[in-house]
Amino acid sequence: MNELAVYAVSCENSRGRELDEELPSGRSEFQRDRDRIIHSAAFRRLEYKTQVFVNHEGDLFRTRLTHSLEVAQIGRSIARNLGLNEDLVEAITLAHDLGHTPFGHAGQDALNECMREYGGFEHNLQSLRVVDVLEERYAAFDGLNLCYETREGILKHVSRKNAQKLGAVGERFLQRRRPSLEAQLANFADEIAYNNHDVDDGLRSGLITLGQLEGVAIFSHHLEQVKEKHPALPERRMVYETLRGMINTLVTDLIQQSTCNIKEAKVDSLATVHMAPPLIGFSQQIKKQQQELKKFLLDNLYRHFRVVRMSSKAHHTIEKLFTAFSSETKLLPTQYQKKFDQEGHQAIADYIAGMTDRYAIKEYQRLFAIVEN
Ligand code: MG
Repeated sequence: MNELAVYAVSCENSRGRELDEELPSGRSEFQRDRDRIIHSAAFRRLEYKTQVFVNHEGDLFRTRLTHSLEVAQIGRSIARNLGLNEDLVEAITLAHDLGHTPFGHAGQDALNECMREYGGFEHNLQSLRVVDVLEERYAAFDGLNLCYETREGILKHVSRKNAQKLGAVGERFLQRRRPSLEAQLANFADEIAYNNHDVDDGLRSGLITLGQLEGVAIFSHHLEQVKEKHPALPERRMVYETLRGMINTLVTDLIQQSTCNIKEAKVDSLATVHMAPPLIGFSQQIKKQQQELKKFLLDNLYRHFRVVRMSSKAHHTIEKLFTAFSSETKLLPTQYQKKFDQEGHQAIADYIAGMTDRYAIKEYQRLFAIVEN
């Protein structure tokens, strides 16, 4: 464990767990949170959930699981350099996507539309619901009974309406207070990871080309550097070296800029972090370059017709499943029928959100295809 800065979250200043437990031996409270997340069923399901490309499209594309591991790696590096709590960052980053539906954002949008009359569906809130309620592993409680700070970091966004129902962890959205620096940095680690791996996956899929990316400042700058140093490098390695340079630049810039922000704001405790403006961030120049890259990915990858076609099928699948279950709840597995009696349509959302891509595809066939299965 690195030496913690005065503004870091520590086991001493932690607000603790909802249910008190005996202190862990041989590991910190936040290591215990991380371990509980890794042992959860929802974490294992991330392996078969879409990041951008649906799982069956290829073996080398990122899944939610490999994405989460990359976010954790980047997050830990930054935390160590800033004197922040690495174990907490690791727990938050590994859990940050636990509530995602199958088929990525298309699945989430579809489920949100289906749930409109019943309170909507927010994947951040669902991630919290997974660790607070849905995991069934422990004798003494539902969920994972994680520390307040881990839960605070998982709940990146939430609507005001839902924040009011969440108790302590929802308060900061109503009072406009900032979360810990560990939570703030987890968001940036997420952004650094997906911008870079989506470039990699986009190139591998052939949906975007190196030629197109030469028009994007941050990519072309690093590509030129690699070409100068290694003119004869095969293209695939050239891409890896370019992305390696980009990640390094982004991580370094984030550490430098955040260090300045923390100094300028004279933050000297965790309490002052909550009252200060957001302190983790890129320099203006890198922020602009990141925005350019994001826009490029939106226009050329996320809106590529092949991605849009897959998203449209995903939307259709989720919508059909939801409609079938809500018009005949006896189609639900028995335990979800019982949950429906208690919680209504939220039980259907929980069932669908928990599915992996391939489970959702199979369930669709089981409901709508008259074939042996
Ligand atoms: Mg993510």
